[in-house]
Amino acid sequence: MESYEDLLKRARAALPEKTLSNERFEPPVAEIMMQGNKTLIRNFDAICQKLRREPALLSKYMGRELAVPATLDGGKLVLHGKKYERQISEKLGNFISAFVICKECKRPDTKLVESGGVRTLVCEACGARAPAR
Ligand SMILES: [Zn+2]
Repeated sequence: MESYEDLLKRARAALPEKTLSNERFEPPVAEIMMQGNKTLIRNFDAICQKLRREPALLSKYMGRELAVPATLDGGKLVLHGKKYERQISEKLGNFISAFVICKECKRPDTKLVESGGVRTLVCEACGARAPAR
């Protein structure tokens, strides 16, 4: 016979998780433009807004990962070197999985908390915490 606890557990598991919205997270796509020896991400601001991350953090990450200086120019990111769209999307994807997506529930509703030089990814949907690097 099923215990009351088991019943309760089963009922809970059957409930739709209404705190989570069902809309799928669409990762932003970088709009690339070549300008001489530079590669511009034209919609950089929009990407940062969508990911809710500081432009400075993402620009530093892109510069480091792509091994070129990266500077912000208005809402654009200027990469001082020729980079292919494929490379940029790959790095952007890596950034999103490391600094945006929750490791537990795979949702993007997270924030970065920094303390003592250590970054922690805190999920606003499920409460999970994980070091971000
Ligand atoms: Zn989560």
